[in-house]
Amino acid sequence: MEKEQDVTVAKSAGFCPGVKRAIDKVLELEAAGKKPVYTIGPLIHNKQVTDMLAAKQITAIEAPQDAADKSGVLVIRAHGITPEFQKDVETHGMEVVDATCPLVKHAQNIIAKFAAQGYHTVIVGDGGHAEVIGLLGYAKGNGTVVAGAEEAAKLPHFDKVNVVSQTTQKESDFYAAAEEIKKHADECQISNTICQPTKDRQKETVELAKQADLVIVVGGKHSANTARLALLCQGLCPRVQHVETEDELETEQVLRAKKIFITAGASTPNWVIDRVAARVRELRKTGSKTVLRVLQKGWHFLVKNAFYTASAAAALACVCMRLEGVHTDWRLITFAWLFVFAGTAFNRSTEASYAKNKTFLRTASFICAAGALGISAWLGAKTLALCAVLLAAGFFYPFRNVITAQLPPLPGTKDFATALGWAFACAFLPAYHYGLLSRKAAYLAIVYTMLLVFMRTVTLGFSSANKDMIIGRENFYKAFGMKKTKWAVTLILASLTAALATLCTLTWKPALVTMLLIGDLYTIFIVIYYYGRSSTRSVKDETLVDGQFFVLWALSGLAALL
Ligand code: SF4
Repeated sequence: MEKEQDVTVAKSAGFCPGVKRAIDKVLELEAAGKKPVYTIGPLIHNKQVTDMLAAKQITAIEAPQDAADKSGVLVIRAHGITPEFQKDVETHGMEVVDATCPLVKHAQNIIAKFAAQGYHTVIVGDGGHAEVIGLLGYAKGNGTVVAGAEEAAKLPHFDKVNVVSQTTQKESDFYAAAEEIKKHADECQISNTICQPTKDRQKETVELAKQADLVIVVGGKHSANTARLALLCQGLCPRVQHVETEDELETEQVLRAKKIFITAGASTPNWVIDRVAARVRELRKTGSKTVLRVLQKGWHFLVKNAFYTASAAAALACVCMRLEGVHTDWRLITFAWLFVFAGTAFNRSTEASYAKNKTFLRTASFICAAGALGISAWLGAKTLALCAVLLAAGFFYPFRNVITAQLPPLPGTKDFATALGWAFACAFLPAYHYGLLSRKAAYLAIVYTMLLVFMRTVTLGFSSANKDMIIGRENFYKAFGMKKTKWAVTLILASLTAALATLCTLTWKPALVTMLLIGDLYTIFIVIYYYGRSSTRSVKDETLVDGQFFVLWALSGLAALL
């Protein structure tokens, strides 16, 4: 459990082991890239995750017959399926991966064992839930589902009955129903099949929700276990908010509450919980100071909608021009801003976590792309052609799977592509436009930009991926793992520092290079700070990481004055 400023985040919040295992399996199959991946039903009821899986062409289908490509892999989700359906699936001819949670399997085995001995099975749970439908299949046609004690009271008499539970039931409800069922049977076998992660979650929730005056339950509105958790909290705490993302928080309640407890259902990814917790802390830090809150909101808007990143690119373009000895050309600086904005905003518009801003991001992206094309046309026909090709590549990148579905994803391509785009706009174009490409300074600026931007993207990718395996192998960190990423970044940083130090001793633009060396300290700080942390990317992280380009811009400006 994490506690800070009277904001407590449940230790048990987030993916349960069964859901995590199923998602990891599916993503491993997708990363292998050999075959299309299908799941029988959605893996979990969380919009952010299902959107991300859909973006990776991982398709939820009802039955093997629905698979468009029969050479694909079919994954049975954590909830499990009936034995008859399992037989159908396994004999259909497609490769099958069974990701049924072992704790659901345990419940299935108990039902099958007692059903074989002639027991009638009563399952306490939601009749329409996929797990319960699967469990009922093991009762050999001799089973009933009840929602609770009230429905159990209406049951007929049985000779022998085996009472089991859906794995995510509330324990007190299960025992209340079981006591009632006992009255309807000569012999009653009670098997509490509520899984340990659910028990732990409920125990922690009961303990902490009682002490809080606001509980925030994070998770999908259609997730049964999250809705049940919210219901449990409503009986323990006067104020409960059930939110899917940080944007749905009721600010006034967050500000007024003395103690806040944040919990989440088994299908909520950690990065969603982290974002909600970060937003709650930010709101409470700012308190009721209206001016600060308005400023904070404005800052969030600028960072989340790529304005800040585009401005960082413009700052880097200024640094590159100073390195290359080009005078400040506002057309080129504006071009860098528009080009990076167009690419970043469009890519964000395809991510599930920016779904609410999709229309704004796409519209702004197209307007800025048109602006970038306009400036490049002004700079010359060749520049226009280059710009058009690179913008088209940037817009195509999020949809590359449509065309390259049969090819394995190239590891780390996202980070390389981003570095390449920035290097074009910030360093290549000024040198090209002023005919300086033959000078060493131009190469230095291009390589310098590529390395810095590569490190920036890897660092941001790292903070997004470290808790849940949701991002793909196109991200360097995801493809090569923590150890190799650390080595790569350390090596790049050391090379950058060594190159600048060498230039300094060669007395090449000494004031400028000295300032860039000082700026290197900020980059070193960022790298050390983020590689020792386990957090999810937030507005603060983007502010700090992209802040390095403003630091370099300010220092290089200072050098020009010396
Ligand atoms: S809630 Fe429990 S039983 Fe269900 S998938 Fe998660 S760990 Fe497994």
